[in-house]
Amino acid sequence: MADASVAVDIGGTKIAAGVVDADGTLRAHQRQPTPAGGLAELVEAVTGLARKLGDARMPVGVGFPGFIDLAGTVRSAPNLPALVGAPLQPRLEAGCGVGVTVVNDADAAAWGELCRGAGRGGGGLAMLTLGTGVGGGLVVNGRLVRGAHGAAGELGHIIIDEGGPLCGCGNHGCLEAHASGTAIARKAREAVAAGEVAAGSPLASAADLGGEVVTAAGAEGDRDALAILADAGFWLGVGVASIANAVDPPAIVVGGGAAVGAGEALLAPARRACAQRVLGAPSREPPPLRPGELGEHAGLVGAGLLTRLEAAG
Ligand SMILES: [Zn+2]
Repeated sequence: MADASVAVDIGGTKIAAGVVDADGTLRAHQRQPTPAGGLAELVEAVTGLARKLGDARMPVGVGFPGFIDLAGTVRSAPNLPALVGAPLQPRLEAGCGVGVTVVNDADAAAWGELCRGAGRGGGGLAMLTLGTGVGGGLVVNGRLVRGAHGAAGELGHIIIDEGGPLCGCGNHGCLEAHASGTAIARKAREAVAAGEVAAGSPLASAADLGGEVVTAAGAEGDRDALAILADAGFWLGVGVASIANAVDPPAIVVGGGAAVGAGEALLAPARRACAQRVLGAPSREPPPLRPGELGEHAGLVGAGLLTRLEAAG
């Protein structure tokens, strides 16, 4: 189809891919394991997917789990450390023989939610993806904000609790260290170890206490799980208030597996914490905090649609 593009979402363990039509429809969605090794193996996997899924003229949009600079070189990749320093975008363009757009995966998700999801029609949004970490993306006045070096929009690493829990980035008290799926699991394990969890709670008996256990128990109404999700939600709201003060976006969209699982158990406390802190409260209406609508496909849809933007200049 004319104006379709190939979209690829590279993850630490899996690569998802598909064809995205001009209207944002995702077709031929498939997944395969992320290859072990370095740049050559990844380029081979992505070019193979592009050849299989699209025709030779389709542009390729790629979401990558890390910091990609404006030249398309990987500057940081916590889950794919072998790729740091790799000229990913130029090598993919050489391999695919078409224009390739590579952006941070949460930037791609932000663009997807803006064009076809929870941010439709608003002209901008701040996006947070809650999973193992917390990804972030910003669209202001219809443009994806990439910053002077491509590092903008890392909303998961705004510091909301200096002296708080250690974050994967090495700082203390980042939003990610309080509101990611990993943080939710850590809070649950700490509560169990401190004897704060009721004996009948699923948290007390879980063999492997991950974030999904907490969100599932919260969905069943477990009070201890709900208290942990409310704590993570509180900190999410503290961060969101700062994002609102910095950017004043039309909407803040929260996606990613941990957010989908926790739903309002996380978002309702976040709205309260934000409303109390945003500048101008209580007379100012804080930006609406909405769950993502595209789920795990947000990054693919956004990566595909971003190629249209690049093509349009
Ligand atoms: Zn951090």
